[in-house]
Amino acid sequence: MKAEILAVGSELLDPLRRETNGAYITGRLRSVGVDVFARITVADDASWLEQAFRQALSRADVVIATGGLGPTSDDLTREAAARAAGRALHRDPGLLEALRERFARFGRVMAPVNAQQADLIEGAVSLPNARGSAPGQYLDQGGRLLFLLPGPPGEMQPMFDAQVLPIVRERAGGRALVTRVLKIASMGESDVEQIVAPLYKTYENPRTTILGGAGQTELHLTGEGASEEEAAARVEELASGIHGLLPGRIFSDDGRDLAEVVAALLSGRGKTLALAESCTGGLVAARLTAVPGSSAFFDRAYVTYSNQAKADLLGVDPQIIERHGAVSEETARAMAEGARRAAGTDLAVAITGIAGPTGATEDKPVGLVFLALAGDGVDRVRRAQFPGERDRVRAQAAQAALEMIRRAVLGLAPV
Ligand code: ATP
Ligand code: MG
Repeated sequence: MKAEILAVGSELLDPLRRETNGAYITGRLRSVGVDVFARITVADDASWLEQAFRQALSRADVVIATGGLGPTSDDLTREAAARAAGRALHRDPGLLEALRERFARFGRVMAPVNAQQADLIEGAVSLPNARGSAPGQYLDQGGRLLFLLPGPPGEMQPMFDAQVLPIVRERAGGRALVTRVLKIASMGESDVEQIVAPLYKTYENPRTTILGGAGQTELHLTGEGASEEEAAARVEELASGIHGLLPGRIFSDDGRDLAEVVAALLSGRGKTLALAESCTGGLVAARLTAVPGSSAFFDRAYVTYSNQAKADLLGVDPQIIERHGAVSEETARAMAEGARRAAGTDLAVAITGIAGPTGATEDKPVGLVFLALAGDGVDRVRRAQFPGERDRVRAQAAQAALEMIRRAVLGLAPV
């Protein structure tokens, strides 16, 4: 079965606004074996909306629209959907009464404009909204399923899970899809592919796709089965085979990102951390402190950009910088040791590099980064050459620093 999702609302087309309902619904639909073929965001415009509904109803087995069910004149979803389906809208007396009661419960009198929220498409079934005033609705349009749901994620999600998913699951014939994402920070896409392709290619189910990102390679395994349990078991079998081929390389298979994994490791082992960041300018600190509970392990970060700051705050000997340069193995090591000494933490990690576009020299190109880790009985340095522009170099350097911490804490060999 193929699904199409319409996100309704001009505000969602604002460059700074994020349309999140589509991603949520896509994930939930996949769990019952329904693939989303299109996600379209449409302005609050009667004609564009009607066309979007017409197109969706002409090609998708399941059409799910969110938003535009409110009481104001720019809430046009019901009307547009009704017109596209060639059906009338009628005001449902039961719904109208329920709306009036809802207002009365909050000690308010319902404004006349709210009455349109009691409009139902001919033949549709109303879906009660426990969290808001706009009820959803569900229509079987000649075998295609059409759902209109409220826009606010806090109203849409419970309605979707409790009322929409069971209907779609039944119609989908009980097939279920389960996706597991295996994440690797220490190898590129093609290296991972070379190692795991001979195994995953022997499986038609699960399907495997490889995605490369900044400092990370992801393996997406999607299994199908008659139930969620069966699909999960298929995914589990392939995932454990892949784990066996990449020992110590997969940092996450439960959706967590590297900072969350490192935070849990450090908290779990009672280790404290300090950072000395140059070219990453606090990126590693920001990522780690974004994890709730980071105060359990995170002590401090020094953003030491200038040579003077490296000397003042970390006690790096100016002669080291003079002799080897600010971007060097020796300086990285001295920064890590200095941060650890100053903070008195179990571990300290330092990052110094050339993020570009300026600052490169003949023997030190853009993307050259040194990472150092100092700890109780551990002492690691890595020279890395990252591709890409400033943002990507910085992101990869931060990711590499986190992976360095993970590998050291787990006692895994450096990369
Ligand atoms: P209401 O009864 O609250 O008016 P509605 O169905 O009319 O419900 P909208 O007015 O379209 O909903 O949206 C209300 C708010 O919900 C939006 O301002 C936005 O913050 C959020 N919202 C709507 N659609 C989405 C979406 N697709 N992704 C993320 N947020 C959304
Ligand atoms: Mg709206």
